[in-house]
Amino acid sequence: MHEFQYTKAGDVGQAVTSVSPNGAKFVAGGTTLIDLMKLEVERPKLLVDINGLPLDRIEPDGGGLKIGALVRNSDLAHDEQVQRLYPVLSQALLSGASPQLRNMATTGGNLLQRTRCYYFRDVNYACNKRNPGSGCSAMEGYNRIHAVLGTSSHCIATHPSDMAVAMMALGATIFVTGPKGDRSIPITKFYLLPGTTPDRENVLAAGEIITHVTLPPPAQNAKSHYLKRRDRASYEFALASAAVIVELDGRKIRKAQVAMGGVGTIPWRSPEAEHELTGAEASERNFRRAAEAALRGAKAHKDNGFKIELAKRTLVRALQTVTQA
Ligand SMILES: Cc1cc2nc3c(=O)[nH]c(=O)nc-3n(C[C@H](O)[C@H](O)[C@H](O)COP(=O)(O)OP(=O)(O)OC[C@H]3O[C@@H](n4cnc5c(N)ncnc54)[C@H](O)[C@@H]3O)c2cc1C
Ligand code: SF4
Repeated sequence: MHEFQYTKAGDVGQAVTSVSPNGAKFVAGGTTLIDLMKLEVERPKLLVDINGLPLDRIEPDGGGLKIGALVRNSDLAHDEQVQRLYPVLSQALLSGASPQLRNMATTGGNLLQRTRCYYFRDVNYACNKRNPGSGCSAMEGYNRIHAVLGTSSHCIATHPSDMAVAMMALGATIFVTGPKGDRSIPITKFYLLPGTTPDRENVLAAGEIITHVTLPPPAQNAKSHYLKRRDRASYEFALASAAVIVELDGRKIRKAQVAMGGVGTIPWRSPEAEHELTGAEASERNFRRAAEAALRGAKAHKDNGFKIELAKRTLVRALQTVTQA
């Protein structure tokens, strides 16, 4: 069994310093990391427990919301402000995992959860994400749950988070601190496409910790919705999902924000769909045009071609729901 050390961080600075040495990792809810350690996919030398840090508050922030990195998924989903101002986020959170997992899982950990690709999670298979340069077993293997957008010849794994898809549609900003100080990163710039380096999943530098996430103020008459399609009704990851935020002027769409899950190698914002929808009449025909635009660049592999049509229908249905009078 792999040996590791365990330590509790007293403050953010100590957490950052402790995790900066090579091979150390933060642990928050542990629902991704401890699983992967049991599978020997992750083998940190030092685990730094950040649960004691004062990062567990949800606070108003200039008309928007500031969400601490240690806010539990359950607390966020049931927060009165989130339910009232950002229903898409509450719905996305409640569609994920199980109540027990949501009670443990944190905002920071959810953003950084790893892919559910079977071959990534089994050390007996070649996987460029786990072991750079070793190959991709999913490419010619069983790839029903894999991505159709943002893929490369090195990796076709999906990003599994529901919450991140809602935050992508909302235009969240991620705040981090690290050995070189503080910085903020728009979520649209946070995740990295696999390209030739699928082991690099986001722009976090070594030792950086997510401290909080902010959401911009919602438009007064905006309505939002999250729709998730999966193999069973609960406790299952998305095959396709859509997070939509729409501002209507009568039946005309003044503004639309669209993101998709289950289909992209990263939580997938779709400017193409948004462009089709802006200024258009709220009609099934226009929703279908937006869906066609969103999936235009999709590339199917052996077992996942069905996702392209499923994702289109999911987006159309989400738009129908959110624009209902
Ligand atoms: C059976 C099962 C079903 C699931 N179903 C779904 C689902 O349907 N939808 C869905 O979206 N998710 C699902 N999940 C995933 C779950 O949402 C994630 O495991 C959870 O959100 C991770 O949060 P955590 O706090 O437990 O992270 P941890 O496991 O503690 O950490 C995850 C990663 O983030 C890093 N980290 C954590 N916090 C910080 C921080 N503040 N700064 C920097 N790094 C940090 C850790 O070092 C680690 O690398 C499921 C999980 C399981 C086990
Ligand atoms: S799809 Fe990505 S995560 Fe899965 S085996 Fe290939 S390289 Fe690994």
